[in-house]
Amino acid sequence: MKILKLGTVLCAATLLFSLGLSGCGANEAEAAVPEEETAAAEESGTLPEADASDFVLLAEAVPDAILEIRYYSTYNFVGDRIDGYEEPVALLTKEAAAALKEASDDLMARGYRLKIYDAYRPQMAVSHFVRWAEDIQDTRMKEYFYPGLDKSVLFDQGYIAAKSGHSRGSTVDLTLFDMSTEKEVDMGGTFDWFGIESHPDYRGITEQQYQNRMLLREVMLAHGFKPIDTEWWHFTLADEPYPDTYFTFPVNSDSVQQ
Ligand SMILES: [Zn+2]
Repeated sequence: MKILKLGTVLCAATLLFSLGLSGCGANEAEAAVPEEETAAAEESGTLPEADASDFVLLAEAVPDAILEIRYYSTYNFVGDRIDGYEEPVALLTKEAAAALKEASDDLMARGYRLKIYDAYRPQMAVSHFVRWAEDIQDTRMKEYFYPGLDKSVLFDQGYIAAKSGHSRGSTVDLTLFDMSTEKEVDMGGTFDWFGIESHPDYRGITEQQYQNRMLLREVMLAHGFKPIDTEWWHFTLADEPYPDTYFTFPVNSDSVQQ
């Protein structure tokens, strides 16, 4: 799977900027803060987008999941640790984490574990992606994530978003890990690959690879998540508790410890 076609939309990782994409939050307009949230913020001195009190650590909520937090490492499309990732942990709203626990239990019974690449993503991380996209000279990771894509088209073609659904705290990027082979399941593509090959319904892969994508999708949907049509690894809790809030606190365990 080395061929990449231009003009396809990859969300998030993700990149996405703009126009009419669903899922990673590209064009979601910034929503007004509800009055009650504003009032509560004034009372407590905390802005609603800085309030992590409804979030949990994934390692606590879904202990069977394997964490490989790519944006804490330098193995991502930028090539640096991403702003706001202060520890290699994953945070989600408690509602999304509870649903993910059910998906995990379901998959464990079938011989798999979930492997998590990203979950809550603070706004400062998304802003880092935008800054990176504006620097078209920086192509350090091109070979691994976007070999067929000219970086200059990222904004115009809708690859980079000023906002991501991940910042709302109920979206997760993940794959399956096969307990019998002790390897990641072959999805016919890799996390954060920018191209049409990442579309869940892409058929230029083997039947087995396609079935593997569908297994992940079916289980996630059965437990309350919804997919997007551009990334096989990306799912959002359908009934997300904060559909209009783009959180700003960093990814670390202190954010969620009361
Ligand atoms: Zn995602």
